[in-house]
Amino acid sequence: MSPSKFKSKLIYLLLLVGGGLVAVGLIGYINLQNIKRDMDTLYFGSLLPLSELNAISDTYHSQLESTLYRWSHQLISDEEAAENISQGLSHIDHLWVNYLSRQKRPDEMAYVNYTEAQIGSLGRYFQEVREIILRPGSNPAPSLNTLSENINLIHGTIHQLIAYENAAARYEHSVLKAHYHNALMQLLVLLFVVLLLVMGLAWKIFTRIELQQHQLVASAETLKHLNLKLEQASYTDSLTTLYNRRYFNLLHEREFKRAMRSEKPFVFMMLDIDFFKQYNDTYGHIQGDQTLQAVAKVLKTTLQRPGDYPFRLGGEEFGVIITDSDCQSARNMGERIRANVEALKIEHKGSKIAQTLSVSIGGVCIVPTIHMGEEEIIHAADTNLYAAKERGRNQVVFSNRL
Ligand code: GH3
Ligand code: MG
Ligand code: MG
Repeated sequence: MSPSKFKSKLIYLLLLVGGGLVAVGLIGYINLQNIKRDMDTLYFGSLLPLSELNAISDTYHSQLESTLYRWSHQLISDEEAAENISQGLSHIDHLWVNYLSRQKRPDEMAYVNYTEAQIGSLGRYFQEVREIILRPGSNPAPSLNTLSENINLIHGTIHQLIAYENAAARYEHSVLKAHYHNALMQLLVLLFVVLLLVMGLAWKIFTRIELQQHQLVASAETLKHLNLKLEQASYTDSLTTLYNRRYFNLLHEREFKRAMRSEKPFVFMMLDIDFFKQYNDTYGHIQGDQTLQAVAKVLKTTLQRPGDYPFRLGGEEFGVIITDSDCQSARNMGERIRANVEALKIEHKGSKIAQTLSVSIGGVCIVPTIHMGEEEIIHAADTNLYAAKERGRNQVVFSNRL
């Protein structure tokens, strides 16, 4: 996945999470509004009217009826009875006005109107009773039987209305419950869908990241391998595949110091093909290269211990570093190299000393001290090589001092 694709996937994820939250909030808000409306309807449309109707019924019974009863048994005075009746009637009026102001359903109106008519006629009845109480003798005394009949009638009417409001309250409660469950389900389903989508997208992103990580690790491995190869190539001579001069410089210094620390002999040999210019002149440059490869192969096969390092120093000159060896063995090794090259029996008609290819070797074996420089060893080996050439070539000149 390219970085821009990755970015857009992340943006989708954020949009999904954000959008999901907004949708949940919106649906939650709408449903809360609905539930609030249901609660208002239940409270103002049914519960409050119920309490008002109960209060009206109670006022008829506990205030008006009981006043007349106590007045007829002369437990209270005429004035007190008249005052009680006035208060009760105005309380009922007040309650009824409140009740009427509540929300009404159309099918309820028939009951309401009937009850209002009943309350009106009962009001007039009590007014008449009040008049009689205040002006006795003007009218016949009110009959308590008529009173009971009237009160029973209004109780019956109001209770019908109460039963209706009760049923309405129960119905509204069931509506509210249904809305509540509906809202809960909507929110749960929405949350579940959003969660599923977010998890799906996140999973896709994470698996891509994982894949890219694997690819990255594999690329790093390949790069490491290539770097190693490059490093090896930078230390290798391409024609002979021996170590090159560059690696020689590095290793020479390192092994020289190591030998100094461990006080062990350090061996360095320089090897030069005899009359190689004539060889090239006689057999051509390509044949010359093949011969260089043949000599390199002799070095490789003769020097096989881990502490032996053969180099091509340049042209037809080779170098050998031998560590962890004694001087006698090293000298023998030089002799063996020379003999092995001779044993190749490569024809060399231009050689002034034989008819086959040969090499001269100058070697040094010393235990390095702090007073010695690396250059001195190279110089000593070079001097010995020069001596080997001078003494007739195809030989090893080896010394144990500088
Ligand atoms: P001596 O016995 O004194 O060493 O004589 P020589 O001819 O070997 O020495 P000189 O240094 O005069 O010549 C070295 C020759 O090696 C010169 C060049 O033609 C040849 N030569 C150097 N590098 C290469 C190479 O990479 N390939 C080939 N084919 N020849 C090379
Ligand atoms: Mg040379
Ligand atoms: Mg030479």
